[in-house]
Amino acid sequence: MRCPHCNCRDIGKIGANQFYCWGCFIEFSVSGEAVRVYEVAEDGSLISVASMPSEVGMSSSAL
Ligand SMILES: [Zn+2]
Repeated sequence: MRCPHCNCRDIGKIGANQFYCWGCFIEFSVSGEAVRVYEVAEDGSLISVASMPSEVGMSSSAL
């Protein structure tokens, strides 16, 4: 297991599919082949980071 963000191996497990990187201080969750990366704010809240390429279709709303 390596950090998907900085590729370091200093990873701590914090949940069933959740990990914390001590290298770049991000949190990431793994579900199947999908990896979601979060920044941890000073207040402890998670901020989604769009660093991974995703195939998720973006629906544009009509004006
Ligand atoms: Zn990292």
